[in-house]
Amino acid sequence: MTVRDDGLDELEVWIDQDLCTGDGICAQYAPEIFELDIDGLAYVKSPDDELLQDKGATTPVPLPLLNDVRDSAKECPGDCIHVRRVADKVEVYGPDAP
Ligand code: SF4
Repeated sequence: MTVRDDGLDELEVWIDQDLCTGDGICAQYAPEIFELDIDGLAYVKSPDDELLQDKGATTPVPLPLLNDVRDSAKECPGDCIHVRRVADKVEVYGPDAP
């Protein structure tokens, strides 16, 4: 993916907890982004490390973590990690990616 300065490549990620199996693969791959809560499900974290538990909550994907987040989405057994472009909300990695 090329990096442009028009913001089109900025990505965000969210988790569909309804499908999360709680295995924790995402939190192993990218602990800066994903964390398991005491309910046994994975959630994304804000840039200041706050667990975001609202349904559909998103957090930005920093470029240095993109590979880890992409691998998390690919390996996620629940197929419930969605990575999408901020600009147009088009999913680029995850179950709804083209
Ligand atoms: S990898 Fe997927 S199924 Fe596993 S804990 Fe993370 S979000 Fe849930």
